Amino acid sequence: MGTSIAAVLFDLDGTLLDHDTAAVRAATECWPDADAAFVERRWTELTDAFVLRMVQGELTQTEQRRGRAIALAGELGHPGWDDATADAWLAGYRVRYKAHWTAYPDVGPAFEELAARGLRFGIVTNGDGAAQRAKLEHIGVLSHVADCVIASQEAGVAKPDAAIFAAACARLGQAPGAVLHVGDRLDTDARGAAAAGLTGVWLDRADTGTGSGTGTGIGSAVGVPRVVSLAELAALVDARR
Ligand SMILES: [Mg+2]
Repeated sequence: MGTSIAAVLFDLDGTLLDHDTAAVRAATECWPDADAAFVERRWTELTDAFVLRMVQGELTQTEQRRGRAIALAGELGHPGWDDATADAWLAGYRVRYKAHWTAYPDVGPAFEELAARGLRFGIVTNGDGAAQRAKLEHIGVLSHVADCVIASQEAGVAKPDAAIFAAACARLGQAPGAVLHVGDRLDTDARGAAAAGLTGVWLDRADTGTGSGTGTGIGSAVGVPRVVSLAELAALVDARR
């Protein structure tokens, strides 16, 4: 028997905020006369490809953003965009992307269920603190987590480093063994948290895991509890009481 869970930490993008849907809706709105399915598919593919080139050090953030905007425009029959044209398009895209920031439908009910159990909450996110707080406020979650929003850019350390999880536990005044962290990245979130002594839970929204099914998922092949919805968290917490 382990320690009871007293607090729950959440990742933000892909866990609470539906970033992918916001991104493809913004792109299709920016090209209203184009085939929406084509824009959705290509914007996702181009984003993955250009972000990978940035991660590999080949492009800067600005270059990867301009690059995928210019590439998509070219495929939609508007070749030869310069940087200024791309920047103007990206400004409009950014406004629409923010307007589509939405919590997944299981977020509100999960906070209610977990709050009814007397749990405290926090966020551990790799990103810019101000930008991530703006997202949390927009989706109505900031009031639940205001005392504990740990952003890598402010903490000086990023997931999956154990130090960022330790900082969150310290902020909550809890030992790692009493804290559960849930996120959509198996290694960055779930295994990282587990290595820091927390209960790390993988949120596999697409149900791609090879584990032994959903439910509490304990004993699944991924080595950490796996859930396909935040609605499963309360049962995981109850199993530890
Ligand atoms: Mg995430």
